[in-house]
Amino acid sequence: MNFTDFGFEPTLIEGIDALGFETPTPIQEQAIPIVLKGNDLIASAQTGTGKTAAFLLPIIQGILNKSNEGHIKALVIVPTRELAMQIDQMMQGISYFTSVSSIAVYGGSDGALFSREKQALSSGVDIVISTPGRLKSHLTMGNVKIDKLQYLVLDEADRMLDMGFYEDIVKIISYLPDKRQNLLFSATMPPKIRDLARKILYHPSEINIAVSTPAEKIKQEAFVVYNKQKNALAKLILKEKNFRSILIFCSTKLSVKELNRELKHAGFNSDEFHSDLEQSQREKILLKFKNREISMLVATDIMSRGIDVEDIDLVINYDVPGDGEDYIHRIGRTARAESEGEAITFINEKEQGKFQSIERLLGKEVLKAKVPKILGEAPEYIIHDYRKKKGNNYYNKKKKSRNFSKNNKK
Ligand code: AMP
Repeated sequence: MNFTDFGFEPTLIEGIDALGFETPTPIQEQAIPIVLKGNDLIASAQTGTGKTAAFLLPIIQGILNKSNEGHIKALVIVPTRELAMQIDQMMQGISYFTSVSSIAVYGGSDGALFSREKQALSSGVDIVISTPGRLKSHLTMGNVKIDKLQYLVLDEADRMLDMGFYEDIVKIISYLPDKRQNLLFSATMPPKIRDLARKILYHPSEINIAVSTPAEKIKQEAFVVYNKQKNALAKLILKEKNFRSILIFCSTKLSVKELNRELKHAGFNSDEFHSDLEQSQREKILLKFKNREISMLVATDIMSRGIDVEDIDLVINYDVPGDGEDYIHRIGRTARAESEGEAITFINEKEQGKFQSIERLLGKEVLKAKVPKILGEAPEYIIHDYRKKKGNNYYNKKKKSRNFSKNNKK
């Protein structure tokens, strides 16, 4: 699935591209159509699943479809100022090529800041991302143009209730128009969240995204290489390290077949696993691999999900997988149950951006190992700054285009 499948405006697709998002994460795949349809939603999903874009994208698209100048159209309530800032930052990236504006409202004692917030809220910025307390202050002072609100998002709802924001949330909701779309995101679903959902949501669709972070026991590392160095590097690693059971993932059947041929030729006890093989052949190969008659299997992603082979001690990603979920599924083949495991990814020059998206999804950088000298010069690992595109610094440009008085100028 691609982001273009959602029917987003080209300006929104440009923003998604600029952030380096290639394919939707599972929560995005499931939540975006629901929100676009206009349904209420309750989603159990943690930070790291891509939930922010799962609600921002369809909301921006909805705002682009329906012009309503000078009114706040979406309200995102979050527990902390850090989260408000983080969401606003993503909002700036995604909406950069659109006309949709936003502000993060999160408190602090600065009087100038308060009046800036007041100005934006009363002139009707499109999307407000706010902590409950500060927003309540503005609402009680009558500063907020909220009567035409279309979307309410409660993000990290369980944390907000833990922090004692229940009364504030109820108060804020009393200021909102009855007819609106409600989205509730929460990492956990204790009874108090269910109660809140019953009070706020109208016939909601429900999504449950299982947490799929890689087991702590998996040692992850990556090599930044040229394509032509990948075969030699694979052979070096397989020769040097004494692994008993190895799974090597390639993105295409063709590269699976080529690599397996090369490994066999070099004397390794390997076989291949892909969808060109008959079911009976696949079963035979899998059994041999489980019984350790074959020590390494070169496979496409059909091996990455569901198939449970115990005690795989090394996974090699010969190619960078399509997205973070695939990466997690692939490396999750190792370190199953109580065992330890290692996952090594080969990144060529073209795959660097894709790997950085995966690292963002993992919430950490994977260690880059030094390419052995014997393989020659390796490419540089260039951090793809998704905030810069075609020489533009969107922060500077955004300051100009995100002038909240832009609604008044028109
Ligand atoms: P979130 O769960 O919203 O906090 O997102 C976690 C991280 O995943 C953020 O750094 C996002 O930039 C990144 N992210 C969100 N959606 C995608 C996607 N479709 N592809 C790659 N990275 C993504």
